Amino acid sequence: MPEPLLEALKTRVLLCDGGMGTQLQAAGLEVGGCGELWNVEHPERVKVIQSRYADAGSDLIITNTFCGSRISLANHGLAERAAELNEAAARLLREVAGPDRWVIGDIGPFGGLLAPMGEAEPEAVSEAFLEQARALLAGGADALIVETQTALEELELGVRAARQAIEEHGTGKKIPVIASMAYDKMKSGPPRTMMGVDPRTAATRMLELGVDIVACNCGTHLDIFDHAEIVAIYRGAAPDHPIMAQPNAGAPERTGTGIVYHETPEAMAKGVAALVDAGARIVGGCCGTTPEHIRLFRAEIDKINAAR
Ligand SMILES: [Zn+2]
Repeated sequence: MPEPLLEALKTRVLLCDGGMGTQLQAAGLEVGGCGELWNVEHPERVKVIQSRYADAGSDLIITNTFCGSRISLANHGLAERAAELNEAAARLLREVAGPDRWVIGDIGPFGGLLAPMGEAEPEAVSEAFLEQARALLAGGADALIVETQTALEELELGVRAARQAIEEHGTGKKIPVIASMAYDKMKSGPPRTMMGVDPRTAATRMLELGVDIVACNCGTHLDIFDHAEIVAIYRGAAPDHPIMAQPNAGAPERTGTGIVYHETPEAMAKGVAALVDAGARIVGGCCGTTPEHIRLFRAEIDKINAAR
């Protein structure tokens, strides 16, 4: 167990990891396959990916549980294994992370729309997030991230579930909750989520919900400089909270051989200073970013930390 994350963030900028889903596919996971099942059936493959991020210099690594709620797992007939798969994911990452890196338990979107827009009942979604959060903590997560959210209603269910699970866990040590929204580029004005939420509104709601770290990740047609714009808006709305940003390696493009992301490690690394200048205290990468992206981010962050 490393030093408390929120304390560490007062002293330096930290580096998270890069894409997981795209790395799983590169390791042979079929499109549409269940990556979370690999935490139990192919843990060595998951560990190899996470070890590469550790070796590239990640301070924080996120569990392989993005689609790990029982609602998402039901698409693969695995709903009843939700607790097992999430706990296994946190345990195996704990081994990879060692004593000096933080294990971040990942809660992704449940994969549908809440009633009345969709068919999912909020109570069922809450229960699914709570089960996932409990299992991630049981496996040793140092923090929880509710990520790639586009609707404030679902974000709220995830954050409340995370906070409840942490309270029940009751170890006495502070386990932070990170809330992260995914935005789309607009023709004019600041980015908004698919559900129309702007960064200022999101950050304001996150603070009301008691979130510890305000974050953005993924998104559509956003580059790392667009993420810096979001971070700056967050900073205005949440000046006293650490901010985290995990941009994609550009938009995915389908080619004959698979899905390609075009933002190179070198191109993205040029934006790391802009993200930090805008107010980010944790920088990582989302879809399409690789251990090589993270290695170059590490060099940038080392320069920034040395200069402060
Ligand atoms: Zn992503």
